[in-house]
Amino acid sequence: MSRLSLLRTRIYRTVARQLHGSVPCWICGQPVAAEDATLEHIKPLSEGGNSHIENLAISHGACNHGRHAKAARRSAE
Ligand SMILES: [Zn+2]
Repeated sequence: MSRLSLLRTRIYRTVARQLHGSVPCWICGQPVAAEDATLEHIKPLSEGGNSHIENLAISHGACNHGRHAKAARRSAE
């Protein structure tokens, strides 16, 4: 398990405890299942954000991917 996925699990569990079991997606606001959770930088690293816990939020894999899809699609074309 990578350091980032350990951090993701820790953040997920912390939020779940604070919100009584449900973890909302930072992007769409819908609940995120543990197995679908990805870590999102609230302030992107490219804009000077860091990987500290206060700059990280849980989002769906699909939402996280969608947010970056423009760049990904461009490279796939
Ligand atoms: Zn979402």
